[in-house]
Amino acid sequence: MSRWIPEGPGIPDAQRRARGPVACIECFQQIPCNPCEEACPRGAITVGDEITSLPHLDTEKCNGCGLCMTRCPGLAIFTVDESCGEGKARVSFPYEYVPLPEKGSRIDCTDREGHFVTEGTVYQVRESKAFDHTAIVTVEIPREYSMDVRFIVRPAPTDSEEVNPDA
Ligand code: SF4
Ligand code: SF4
Repeated sequence: MSRWIPEGPGIPDAQRRARGPVACIECFQQIPCNPCEEACPRGAITVGDEITSLPHLDTEKCNGCGLCMTRCPGLAIFTVDESCGEGKARVSFPYEYVPLPEKGSRIDCTDREGHFVTEGTVYQVRESKAFDHTAIVTVEIPREYSMDVRFIVRPAPTDSEEVNPDA
């Protein structure tokens, strides 16, 4: 399992993560891109006039709503919430497959490279018109893995369609 802990202008520190959900922008390549900046209703993300600049997150403005993660073409944004108590954390990520995981189900959680990290529980599955055909899945996991878990082992498709046809 990767123990790489990201650092950069889009990464919230441990104190902020402990206070509630917040975006974690793992975008480290200087590419011409800024939909995240335009998506945030709270003005928490700044790319600026130089469009290849890395996105900067104002962690005090961010409330962890997740809207930006559904607009990022690189699937580089997550949210992390370490305020859950009982040694738990919640990690959210964009999910563009069918079937969606079932709320309450136990599921294997993986790191950025798809390696197993820990078992978790599907805490929430959110779909909204505002999310532009991308669901947001939230898993509850042991807090020690909050900066490692970034996806899940997908549930088996029920038919031959693996990718959401509406996505
Ligand atoms: S999670 Fe919501 S508030 Fe935070 S940066 Fe993204 S869009 Fe803005
Ligand atoms: S939308 Fe995604 S890839 Fe583009 S700048 Fe923002 S975080 Fe990076």
